[in-house]
Amino acid sequence: MLHRRNFIRIGSLGLSAFSFSSFHKPAVRKPLVISTWKEGLNANRAAWQILKNNGRALDAVEAGVMVTEDSINCCVGLGANPDRDGFVTLDACIMDENGNCGSVAFLERIKHPISVARRVMEKTPHVMLVGDGAQKFAVAEGFPLEEQKLSDDAKKAYEEWLKKSEYKPQINIENSGHAFAPAKLNNGDWNHDTIGMVALDAHGNLSGSCTTSGMGFKMRGRLGDSPIIGAGLFVDNEIGAATSTGLGEEVIKICGTHLVVELMRQGLKPEEACKKAVERIVHKNPAKAREFQVGFIAINKQGEYGGYCIQTGFDFAVCYADDKNFMVKGKHLL
Ligand code: ASP
Repeated sequence: MLHRRNFIRIGSLGLSAFSFSSFHKPAVRKPLVISTWKEGLNANRAAWQILKNNGRALDAVEAGVMVTEDSINCCVGLGANPDRDGFVTLDACIMDENGNCGSVAFLERIKHPISVARRVMEKTPHVMLVGDGAQKFAVAEGFPLEEQKLSDDAKKAYEEWLKKSEYKPQINIENSGHAFAPAKLNNGDWNHDTIGMVALDAHGNLSGSCTTSGMGFKMRGRLGDSPIIGAGLFVDNEIGAATSTGLGEEVIKICGTHLVVELMRQGLKPEEACKKAVERIVHKNPAKAREFQVGFIAINKQGEYGGYCIQTGFDFAVCYADDKNFMVKGKHLL
């Protein structure tokens, strides 16, 4: 029989063990936003304005990538390189803390595909709209139909590309097939056609967004990973969120961002989960993997973040304070 004095002793030991562990539970870093490539710094800044004022992660990830879609110094959005027939086609998706998601793909002449994706999520019973249907929906929702016109840089790049018409993805230059590199491309600010962003808000909720013009000079009608939930973006509010960039076909083949989130569910930290997903791609085809890039970034509910890529050259932007918005070099496997 347990003596009363021992019972009290054990009880108080149990209590002190409990208070010790709860005292040492690491603080959750929130709010937090991370996004792919250097353009992510500007995008994070816009997202941060919402997050720091207790805003919703969903609003932050939409506003953040809209900056990139707007930027003339970036291949995301209507200023981007066209497909092989000379038309810019855009893909985007968004996902919130309740598992709701919306996506548009093969969308032409609309400046903010990410906002159309959000409307698909909020105003239709569907997840995905493509092509003419997506455009019709966007116009009905009041999005202006922009002129079908290539930017000067895209026009030059396209004319140069037409000389060989070779579709050949290049590592870290997602506008594949560049025989010609526009001046802006050399400063590192202009050579990525995708931004993926994931955020944790002050209320502890996660959301994500991803928007792209896809691979430059792609076949007409080609979609990559970016508008596909579970490939280019995945959010599970119990666990974490992940997004990807690089050769979309390879990300789709392993359901990349869903895999990253599931690996976090099994206990891996964001960086470890991204690494495992990269390993999965490389393992399937080690020789070919030397010829392309894929990068994943992820955050978890504790506000931990990480990224991993196949080749060197991928980096991502991390922001968790007014004066903390910085680039992190993605570790690489090969
Ligand atoms: N993942 C995008 C796609 O395949 C390209 C990119 O990330 O730059 O369309």
